[in-house]
Amino acid sequence: MSGKTVAPELLTADENVKYDALIVGCGVIGPCIATALARKGKKVLIVEKEWTFPERIVGELMQPGGVRALKSLGMVQAFNNIDAYPVTGYTVIYNGEEVDIPYPYKADSAPVEKLEGIVKDGNDKVLDDANIKIKDFEDDERERGIAFVHGKFLQNLRKIVADEPNVTRLQGTVIEIMKDDKNEVYGAKVDIPTRGKVVFKANLTFVCDGIFSRFRTELHPDHQSRVDSSFIGMALYNADMPAPKHGHVILGNNHLPIICYQISPEEVRLLCAYNSAKLPSDIKGWMTKEVQPFIPKKLRPSFDAALAEGKFKSMPNSYLPAIPNQITGLCVIGDALNQRHPLTGGGMTVGLQDVVLLMKKISDLDFNDRELVLDEILDFNYEKKDYGVVINVLSIALYALFAANTPELKVLQKGCFKYFQRGGDSIAVPARFLAGVLPKPLVLTRVFFAVAFYACYINIQEQGLVGFFQAFSILITAFKVFTPFLYEEMFS
Ligand SMILES: Cc1cc2nc3c(=O)[nH]c(=O)nc-3n(C[C@H](O)[C@H](O)[C@H](O)COP(=O)(O)OP(=O)(O)OC[C@H]3O[C@@H](n4cnc5c(N)ncnc54)[C@H](O)[C@@H]3O)c2cc1C
Repeated sequence: MSGKTVAPELLTADENVKYDALIVGCGVIGPCIATALARKGKKVLIVEKEWTFPERIVGELMQPGGVRALKSLGMVQAFNNIDAYPVTGYTVIYNGEEVDIPYPYKADSAPVEKLEGIVKDGNDKVLDDANIKIKDFEDDERERGIAFVHGKFLQNLRKIVADEPNVTRLQGTVIEIMKDDKNEVYGAKVDIPTRGKVVFKANLTFVCDGIFSRFRTELHPDHQSRVDSSFIGMALYNADMPAPKHGHVILGNNHLPIICYQISPEEVRLLCAYNSAKLPSDIKGWMTKEVQPFIPKKLRPSFDAALAEGKFKSMPNSYLPAIPNQITGLCVIGDALNQRHPLTGGGMTVGLQDVVLLMKKISDLDFNDRELVLDEILDFNYEKKDYGVVINVLSIALYALFAANTPELKVLQKGCFKYFQRGGDSIAVPARFLAGVLPKPLVLTRVFFAVAFYACYINIQEQGLVGFFQAFSILITAFKVFTPFLYEEMFS
C-alpha cells in the first residue's frame, strides 16, 4: 500500500452483499469488464491495490483493433482530454532506409460492432478535443490507432467505471481467491487499509491482475510467463520524428530493435530491446555504445538530451500463451491470462477484444447459473484464438527476426524489410495483422513463409550459389521461429 491518504468512498464496500461479479485489478481490462457488466445491470465490485496515477512505460500505443474494441464497449472517450496522439501507421527504418506501413482501410474490415445496452448516448465515438477530432476518427478511410501517457488513459478508464451506479470500487490488495471444497471460486479475500482482511463473495470472480499476476496460477500451477528480453525506456521531449503520427521501428545489422512513438504533443516514448531479463549494470554506458549510434539523425538532439539526463525505466518482456478457464466461478483474463512480446503493441488489443467477445457471451446471462456461465467462458477461450494467435505469434516471430542474432535470422530480417519495400499487398496484409484487424492464423502463416521464401530469393540474388545452399538452413530457421509458437498458441 502506498501510505497515501485513501479516498473514504474507496473503503466502504459491503462484505454482506453477494456481488454478481468481483473484479481483481483496475488496470486496462478490469474497468472495461466492470463498466460493461454494470451497464447490463450486474452488481459489480472492483478491487484495485493502487488507484493513484500509475507511472508505467507499458500500454502506451493502442492498435486500431483495440480502438475498435473500446468503441464496441462504449468506452472510447477514455482517449479524450489526455493529450492523446493519433497514430496512422508505422515506419520501419532498416540500416537508415525507411518504409511506411499505413494502417489498413476501414472498408477491409466489418463495421465496428456496438454491444447492445453497453453502447449508448454516442459513447462509441470520441469527442473533439485539442488533439483528437471526431472527423479524423470517424471519417478517415483508414483505421486509426492512438498513443497516450498510460497513467492518464488508465485514470480516464477509472473515471468511466466510477460513474457507473452498479459498480462499487474498493482499495485493497487481493490476497486470496476463495474456493470451496469442490474447488469452485466464490470470491476473494482483500487486505483493506483501515479494515484488515475481508472476504467478499461473488458469483463470478475476474482475475485481471495483469502483467505480474499473482493469481494466474489459479488456472494451473504451470501457467507462468517466460521472460527472455527487456525493454529499456526513456522519454524524449520535443523530438523531431522522422515520420510524424507513425510508430517507428528502428532495425539494423548491428543492434537490437528500438521502437518509438509520440505519446503526447511533447513526449515520445523510446523503448530499446535488451536480450535478457537481467539489465546491463551500466545502462547509460550500454545506451551510449549500443543504441545512440543507430538513432536516426533527426531524433538525435532529443535522444542525446534524454541520455544525458539518464532517467531510464525498464520492463521485462513476458510471453504467456492462454490456457482454458475451467474453474467454476473464475475467469482469468487480460495479461493475467495471455501475454506476448510488446514489440508490436498488441497487448491491450488482445485484452480488449477478449472483453468484447466475453461480454457478447455472458453479459446477458444470470450469473447465478454458474455452470452455464462456465460453458460460455470455455467457448470464449476457444473462440479468442483467432485474433489472439495472430497478434501473439506475429509479435514473437517479428521479435526473433528484428533482434536477429544468427546469420540466418539476419537474412530473414533483411528479407522482411525488402518484402515491405515491394509495397501493395506486401504491406497492406501485414498492416492488417499489426493493426489487429485480420484474425486469420492461416493467412499469417502463409505471409510469414512468403517472407521467408522472399528472403531466400534476395539472398540468392546477392550471394549466388552460396545463397542457394544457405536457403535450406534459412527456411529451417523460419520454421523454428514460427511454428512452435503457432502450435503452442493454437493448442494450449
Ligand atoms: C514494456 C511493455 C510495453 C507495452 N506496450 C504496449 C503498447 O504499446 N500497446 C499495448 O497494447 N500493450 C502494450 N503492453 C501490454 C499492456 O501493457 C498490457 O497488455 C495491459 O496493460 C494489460 O492490461 P491488464 O488490465 O490485464 O493488466 P494491467 O494493466 O497490468 O493492470 C493490472 C491491475 O491490477 C492491479 N493489481 C495487481 N495485483 C492486484 C491485487 N493483488 N489486488 C488488487 N489489485 C491488483 C494493478 O495495480 C493494476 O492496476 C506493453 C507491455 C510491456 C511489458
